[in-house]
Amino acid sequence: MPRTFTFIGKTEDFTTDNGGNIVNTAFIVAPQGVIVIDSGPSLRYGQQMRRAIATVTAKPIALVINTHHHPDHFLGNQAFADVPIAALAETRNGIAADGNAFAENLFRMSGDWMKGTEVQIPGKTLNAGRFDVAGRSLRLVALDGHTGADLVIVDDSSGVVFAGDLVFNGRAPTTPHADVAHWLAALDQLDALTREASFKVLLPGHGAPTADAAPIRQTRAWLTWLSATMRDAAKAGLDMNDTLALPLPPEFAALPVAASEYRRSVGHLFPAAEQDALGAKR
Ligand SMILES: [Zn+2]
Repeated sequence: MPRTFTFIGKTEDFTTDNGGNIVNTAFIVAPQGVIVIDSGPSLRYGQQMRRAIATVTAKPIALVINTHHHPDHFLGNQAFADVPIAALAETRNGIAADGNAFAENLFRMSGDWMKGTEVQIPGKTLNAGRFDVAGRSLRLVALDGHTGADLVIVDDSSGVVFAGDLVFNGRAPTTPHADVAHWLAALDQLDALTREASFKVLLPGHGAPTADAAPIRQTRAWLTWLSATMRDAAKAGLDMNDTLALPLPPEFAALPVAASEYRRSVGHLFPAAEQDALGAKR
C-alpha cells in the first residue's frame, strides 16, 4: 500500500507564536526508505519532523528533496545532514546564494524557534523526468514562476501531486521571486497533471490538500487579478502609494494574509508594471 504523509502548516505569516510552522512538508514511505519532501523552516522543525517520521516507520531516510529555494522549505535540511539532500540545479544555487540572508530574516520573524539553524545546501542535483529512489518511481516536473525553479513531484503509485508553492490553498500567494506569466503557465501544466487517471490528491505548498484542482484555480485567480491590477494602476498613472491603497475585491480580501501579501506584492511587482507602462507610452 502506498504510504504518503504530510505535515500541514498554518495559513499564517511567520510569527514568534507559530515558529514558522506555516508550510506543508511531506514524506513517502518507499520500499527501501523514506523520501522527504521539503524540510520546513528551522533545525527544530526538521528534528521534530524526523522524530515524527520515526514513529511511522523504522526505515532509514533515503533522500530529502527541496521543492524550491524559499527558507520555509529548506531550513530544516540541517536535521537531515547525514542523508542525501537534492534539488534542481537552480534551487541549489539559490540556496547557496541567498540561504543565509533568508535565515537571518526568519530569525527576526520567528525568534527562538530558529535557534541553531544553519543553511544546509543540497548536495545532489535533480533533473526533470522519471526518478527512481528507494524503490519508488517518481516523476519530477521542473517548472518555474513562483521562483526561478519550482519542482513538482508526481507520485504515480499514490496519486499524489506535490505542487510546492506553485499552489496556495486558502492563503494569499507570496511573490518575492515570482514571474507571474511563467507562474500562470506552470499552473496550466499542473492542471493537466490533476486530470490524469492516476491523480488522487493535490498537496499545495501552503494550505489544505484537496482531491481536485480547486486550489490551482484559486491561485490562478489571485495572480491574474494581481497582475491586471498592477498593469491597470501603472497605465492609469497611479504611484505606488495609490496602488497600495486600492481596495481588495471581497473574494480576495477574505483570504488569510491577503492584505499583507498584497502590500508585499505591490513592492515586488509594481515597479516592473510601471516600466512596462512607460515603455508602452514611448
Ligand atoms: Zn515559496
